[in-house]
Amino acid sequence: MSAIPYGRQDINQADIDAVVAVLHSDFLTQGPTVPAFEQAVADYCGAQHAVAVNSATSALHIACLALGVGKGDCVWTTPITFVASANCARYCGADVDFVDIDPHTYNMSVECLTEKLVRAEGEGNLPKVVIPVHMTGQPCDMASINKLSQKYGFKIIEDGAHAIGGKYRGEPIGSCSYSDITVFSFHPVKIITTGEGGMALTNDAELSKRMKLYSSHGIVSTVKDMMPKAPEEIWNYQQIDLGFNYRMTDIHAALGLSQMKRLDEFVIKRHAIANRYEDLLADLPVITPWQHPDSYSGFHLYVIRLKLDEIKKTQREVFSALHIAGIGANLHYIPVYRQPYYEQLGFNAGYCPEAERYYAEALSLPMFPMLINKELSYVTNVLSKCIC
Ligand SMILES: *Cc1c(COP(=O)(O)O)cnc(C)c1O
Repeated sequence: MSAIPYGRQDINQADIDAVVAVLHSDFLTQGPTVPAFEQAVADYCGAQHAVAVNSATSALHIACLALGVGKGDCVWTTPITFVASANCARYCGADVDFVDIDPHTYNMSVECLTEKLVRAEGEGNLPKVVIPVHMTGQPCDMASINKLSQKYGFKIIEDGAHAIGGKYRGEPIGSCSYSDITVFSFHPVKIITTGEGGMALTNDAELSKRMKLYSSHGIVSTVKDMMPKAPEEIWNYQQIDLGFNYRMTDIHAALGLSQMKRLDEFVIKRHAIANRYEDLLADLPVITPWQHPDSYSGFHLYVIRLKLDEIKKTQREVFSALHIAGIGANLHYIPVYRQPYYEQLGFNAGYCPEAERYYAEALSLPMFPMLINKELSYVTNVLSKCIC
């Protein structure tokens, strides 16, 4: 059996044909396919606006900029996430702080968030933006986080990099019903892919406009958006702010638009795999993913926790045994503040105790739609031999 990665894309002939069609067309970028992809995702999620960009990292950056994050501001996120959820604030010159996780969902804990907000209010350093991350695809407790945002006056960016195709209380993640902006990633290990790519969704026309502006050099090309100038100085575009080239190409968008047709099928397959793992792992000394009744996860990741007091191996030994057997188990994630860059900013080991406990026990098993039963049994057999 060839090596089994922890995640991989599922590309069919229709995807390939869609990309080739763009290559034969007039526009490789800034053509009609990007807006078509934006519309398809916005419609699927029930959001008013969508801005496609070249990664979720870019989407997080322009989301922070659009919300006015800058020097002297603080942005809070969860430590159990990919570094991009925190880095976006640093790009804007803002400080970052971390809210410990819930021990069952591994999402930002609303109790910890509440306590931290009470303290911050007393100290006069409330966050400007909070970025909850739908870890593994399971939505955060958005209703509670939204309530807190109204009480304490912060904005919300949902990092839904793991979560397109999932639902919170029956509503698609990305609807932005409880947030200002939701961000998706289309990296190949995520739920749908564009190669590299991301998107920011919002129901706020002004935020959408600002994110578009920042994604393309800060340039506007319609006269009504331009700064007042003498008529002879008005040409076909004007740079009114400092932006970036974060644009998605039509080649990438064609792949994304084609993948959207199979989004529901992908998520259904991921749930079927999760259910099969649940059965196969039932008698092993591991904790399988707990699902909150409000949530329908995108199941980007399948994270188990090792009951180390019942296992005679270390987490590192289990990880290595899986890798030697050709199973690309992974660790999602090292608490972000334990990264040397964040340690240099003054964060220490132990800052978020629940996140540290999770970090000491977690392992991601392979999870992607094309995973077959034979591979699943192989993974669980290798794991069983290692830890039982
Ligand atoms: C993958 C990921 C990102 C970054 O996505 P890119 O598209 O690779 O930039 C951000 N946040 C989380 C939680 C992720 O998993």
